[in-house]
Amino acid sequence: MIKRLVILGASGDLTSRFLMPAIARLHQAEKLPSGFRIIGLARDDWDTEAFRRHLAEKMVPSALSILAGARDAVLAHTEYRRVDIKDRDQLAEALGKMTEPLVAYLALPPSLFAPTVETVAALRLPRGSKLVLEKPFGTNLASAQNLNRLLHESFPEQDVFRLDHFLGMQTVQNILGLRFANRVFEPLWNAQHVEWVDIVWDETLTVAGRASFYDGTGALRDMIQNHLLQLLALIGMEPLHRLDERSLRDRKVDLLRAVRRLSPEEIALQTVRGRYGRGAIEEREIVAYVRERGVDPARRTETFAQVTLAVDNWRWAGVPFRLRTGKALKRDRREIAIHFKPVPLLTFGQQTQPKPNVLTIELDPDRIGLSINVNAPGDLFDLDRAELDSRLGSGGVPAYARLLLNILSGDQTLSIRDDEAEESWRIVEPILESWAAGAVPLLEYPAGSSGPPEAQRILRHVDRLRPDSARP
Ligand code: NAP
Repeated sequence: MIKRLVILGASGDLTSRFLMPAIARLHQAEKLPSGFRIIGLARDDWDTEAFRRHLAEKMVPSALSILAGARDAVLAHTEYRRVDIKDRDQLAEALGKMTEPLVAYLALPPSLFAPTVETVAALRLPRGSKLVLEKPFGTNLASAQNLNRLLHESFPEQDVFRLDHFLGMQTVQNILGLRFANRVFEPLWNAQHVEWVDIVWDETLTVAGRASFYDGTGALRDMIQNHLLQLLALIGMEPLHRLDERSLRDRKVDLLRAVRRLSPEEIALQTVRGRYGRGAIEEREIVAYVRERGVDPARRTETFAQVTLAVDNWRWAGVPFRLRTGKALKRDRREIAIHFKPVPLLTFGQQTQPKPNVLTIELDPDRIGLSINVNAPGDLFDLDRAELDSRLGSGGVPAYARLLLNILSGDQTLSIRDDEAEESWRIVEPILESWAAGAVPLLEYPAGSSGPPEAQRILRHVDRLRPDSARP
């Protein structure tokens, strides 16, 4: 296992909120190799003591479920060096003589990824070192391809980790167990039995405090291009014949390749974009997105995005996959819902069909539920709805801890491969372009609402037969 973690951009939010608490959790669980050290690099005029104080203030044990002892032990092995990462000499001096492999973790603004990859490459890291890039991996297909090209000039793919922390989440991993360790679901997991699939990440959270970052990104790039497409890949992919990094990533990329690039007509029909206006969430007044500091209203950045995608393969032809996410919504809803078709014949004498079965995988808190129809008490001809409900213990390690452990041991199963990153942009790019050209209206929704009412419309199927001439 690698024993040295170098965080580039260590004074930022990601380091204090996710990386360092994850390391403390790993220390607590005695999963770190002995002699493990962390070196934080940033531009702040701090020394190691000041950096440790900054981290200690942010890492409140009760809020992060870590022990104060674990936090302090990790901080005791943490050093700080003041560096402008754009300056190769400063970086070389800060890292000193390198003999053993290390992890270089780019916790930097995405605009610095490409120049930093070049700088780090020039330092010639010891063999076996790993380079970690946070999301977003590029801003469109061309920039993702360029970044991949740049990476491959100096680093073999096996040393590159593109992180999507959703893949470290316990429930996301449970999708694999649910699908492939049970006999009951897989025979129904196809267009013959599934009516549509909903992948939702609705948040009550606003962009306050992150507005200047968010305004350059928007909901489609921030959530759908990466996290929600990863969920789609795990839900839709073919069964694994082996659980290892190659099989899992091959299956995911196969599925992503089958996702249709939407035509302008489909984008007009199948996508919704919105931006929250003034409103209230749980009696708390929320200012309109455009009034947040750091927002340029002329950019017309969306805070709500909904996209209905088609997967053009035998398993899923005709089944809509609705991916949706939004900020400042009425309630937090983070789930994947598999909506099954109604039964072919109902013998209960009812005029209307009961609601079909829905399998719900809730992501936070972790829960799996199955809505079924049963007889109501008393009358043989009456039906009732029942919920099979299982709350899953998420007691293990947090997502970032699981991912860090994989990186330190060189296991890429939970990192995004080069082709996966590009495929995701291939899917999203035409939508981004259409939206930028104003082909889909930017709808305003009040903060605290369920989003634009247009998004409630559910497409029951997507076209199976699109003429080849319409394919890009
Ligand atoms: P952040 O708070 O803006 O931190 C970025 C860090 O980079 C700061 O410490 C900044 O220091 C430093 N930096 C910038 N230019 C530098 C330079 N030339 N030399 C040295 N240090 C420099 O951003 P973040 O939220 O930590 O995010 C980091 C990365 O993780 C981003 O790619 C983001 O998209 C990704 N990410 C973040 C989160 C999250 O919740 N925070 C979640 C998932 C992914 P200065 O103050 O000196 O500029």
